[in-house]
Amino acid sequence: MNPATLTLTGLRAAYAAGDLSPAEVLTSLAAEIESRDPAIGGYLSHDLELALADAKTADLSKPLGGVPIAIKDLINVKGHPCSCASKILHGKYTSPYDATVIRKLREAGAIPFGRTNMDEFAMGSSNENSGIHPCRNPHDPERIPGGSSGGSAAVVAAHTAIAALGTDTGGSIRQPASHCGIVGLKPTYGRVSRYGLVAFASSLDQCGPMTKTVADAAAMLEVISGACDRDSTCLDAPVPRYTEEIGKEIRGLRIGLPAEYFAAGLDPAVRERVEAAVKSLESLGAEIVPVSLPNTAHAVATYYIIATAEASSNLARFDGVRYGHRAQADDLIGMYGKTRDEGFGEEVKRRIILGTYVLSSGYYDAYYLRAQKVRTLIRRDFEQAFAKVDLIASPVSPVPPFKLGEKHSDPLAMYLADIYTISANLAGICGISVPCGTVTVEGKDLPVGLQLLGKPFGEAELIRAAHAYEVTRG
Ligand code: GLN
Repeated sequence: MNPATLTLTGLRAAYAAGDLSPAEVLTSLAAEIESRDPAIGGYLSHDLELALADAKTADLSKPLGGVPIAIKDLINVKGHPCSCASKILHGKYTSPYDATVIRKLREAGAIPFGRTNMDEFAMGSSNENSGIHPCRNPHDPERIPGGSSGGSAAVVAAHTAIAALGTDTGGSIRQPASHCGIVGLKPTYGRVSRYGLVAFASSLDQCGPMTKTVADAAAMLEVISGACDRDSTCLDAPVPRYTEEIGKEIRGLRIGLPAEYFAAGLDPAVRERVEAAVKSLESLGAEIVPVSLPNTAHAVATYYIIATAEASSNLARFDGVRYGHRAQADDLIGMYGKTRDEGFGEEVKRRIILGTYVLSSGYYDAYYLRAQKVRTLIRRDFEQAFAKVDLIASPVSPVPPFKLGEKHSDPLAMYLADIYTISANLAGICGISVPCGTVTVEGKDLPVGLQLLGKPFGEAELIRAAHAYEVTRG
């Protein structure tokens, strides 16, 4: 048996049976990475020695004891590099501390192993904005794995990882999970601590599991959720036993279908797969109810104002003084400018410029303030829908994974493909992508994801329904 192909739950069972040791698992994962990752590019780095040292003290009786977890390269792990796939940090920054999610993973016995590729500073939907190297979809290497957590999705799909952590600001867990045929869960804003994540858009960012199965996602979420005294936006409330939702019935659950998410622009083959998944949920006893999210049409514009505004502020710290790359120049202002020009890629610069513009005096009211008001309307749309239903079902991405280069020169086309994921971040609610079959494009079978959206802190229902559906697919 190749341990790399195991699920997190399967690996735990193998440990319990005494069939494997963490050192054996890490060693075979490292061998898989060496031989298979060069064709995919899912990892930016991995350090077997460091992980083996952690494995020595891993307590197998803990919930995630001895489980290696691949980490998106914007999450700080003490002693590991953290580059956010940006030249401004690459090779020049080692984390001096653990993010809260990493501390919680370690306390549960997990072993952080490997830094996964991503769009630079999490800005993108295809992983083509990585400042280090591209990442490819394991189902068709000519195609994108999605983004920004493209590396985390690709390594889980390729079985060069057992499970991974990603982050989702506007879809970055769910969309790559959908494109790579794995499970990705974006928790409710405030469910999981953001302390130690390099911030992109602080009012939208959440960290979550990217896994082979829904049960694995539940196991990870149970560990990483909960209060954090270093993140004031993180809710101090008990964490439900998400793993106990696995296997529960969904009879009587009300699932909303938003008309606006099954409209023009949705690929007919993707639509067909998602509708078939909804039928399966119905045959499990769920009640399907039409709902409306009337402000959907404004979501992309609203998101790209708020996210860029927050990014322009968050990224001000990368100026050559304290972090990473520093350019040589004659004076201080010249040094700032040259450092940022050399260190940031094109998309990051575009967002900083956009974000600075929408916050500038004279434009603040017209753009930023108005976007905040529309954000409230979008949140209300969900409140009204969730008064009638327990969950909402939809596609994750309107299109199957596209080819590298296909949309790269057209940022607007790329932004528009985020239409079904970004509203959940604006509203702060939770969502999951669960594989719902494939569509055949140019002779290749490409994965499609079903998105389920839940009420604030409704992760338990998400997990219950996603697992019930997963079982019907076998
Ligand atoms: N694709 C979106 C963007 O480019 C979302 C990214 C994310 O969730 N980090 O901003």
